[in-house]
Amino acid sequence: MSNLKHKVVNMFFYCLGFSYILKFINRKKIRVLMYHGVDNQQTDFNLDIPSLIISIKNFEKQINYLSKSYNIISMYDLTSHIKKKIPFPSNSVIITFDDGLKNNFINAFPILQKYNIKATVFLITDYIDTLKISWLNKFSYVTKKIGLSEFVEEFKRKFPAYSNLIGKIGQKNIIELTNFILRYKVDDNIREKFIQGLYNKFKIKINKRKIKDLYLSWKEIKKMANSGISFGSHTSTHPVLSMLNYEKARKEIVNSKKNIEVKLDKKINLFAYPYGNKDDFDLNIKKILVNNNFLCAVSAIDGFNNLNSDLYELKRICIVDEPFYYFKMRIEGFEGLIERIYQKLFRFFKRITFSPSP
Ligand SMILES: [Zn+2]
Repeated sequence: MSNLKHKVVNMFFYCLGFSYILKFINRKKIRVLMYHGVDNQQTDFNLDIPSLIISIKNFEKQINYLSKSYNIISMYDLTSHIKKKIPFPSNSVIITFDDGLKNNFINAFPILQKYNIKATVFLITDYIDTLKISWLNKFSYVTKKIGLSEFVEEFKRKFPAYSNLIGKIGQKNIIELTNFILRYKVDDNIREKFIQGLYNKFKIKINKRKIKDLYLSWKEIKKMANSGISFGSHTSTHPVLSMLNYEKARKEIVNSKKNIEVKLDKKINLFAYPYGNKDDFDLNIKKILVNNNFLCAVSAIDGFNNLNSDLYELKRICIVDEPFYYFKMRIEGFEGLIERIYQKLFRFFKRITFSPSP
């Protein structure tokens, strides 16, 4: 369904009050919300559409609503309810942040404190207090600086096998597709060389200040930890874990965990899979987590959790920069349902319309 049609259909049902009924039906399930950034300005390191960075005003509106209408619990509460099979409190919700961006401290933390809300932040430890950033950050930055069309030309020159595919799709999808190819189809060294080559060719330099302003510092993390924010591992460098060999994957997880434990002087046992889609982790990765005493792991697979959910494959709802009614629909389970109904109706009418006459 096109994005606009999708929104119009959702808005129609939302206005009919369906979402309140669904909230009641889903009251025994638990929603884990996945935030990334909270800021009024978009950074040069983000190309996502809609953006994973939501405005401060929207964030406060969402937190205010959640604190009044939902029961906000912690990742530890969720784990213990699932392990002991004790029903969740009605309308439970958990707030998580991925990647450990500095704006979590500057913009989100004061709002969380104001409403006395506990949240969990998943850290990529190699990027804290260093001048290192991920290939994805570098990719986004250089694409913004040289412009999408220039980037696409360079991409096609370097990877001609994908030229035809790229020619056939729109702008939003080009970003998604090139990102996908660089993430899953290209060797790490080739990807690194290609991106570095662009920086050299177009004489692009990233200001050190910008890099320092991207991720949380240990000092900020400690302040948040002292005020009830819990932290978990999101690996050392944010790779696709299922694409690494066992030992490399183990090191990504264990080193990151140890690093946080040493800095915060407490046991770290919560984990978030980088990228978090179904194919980004597997049984071996789950085994590493179990062997290293992680209590649970969250994915980016969309949906709610219940008492039978796999603790090492918890679903989440990704929060993006969308209008407030859309946020409400997402957490009430409305959007997914409407999508399923729409698909069924669409198939039904297609069958009637195209069935051959007798
Ligand atoms: Zn991430």
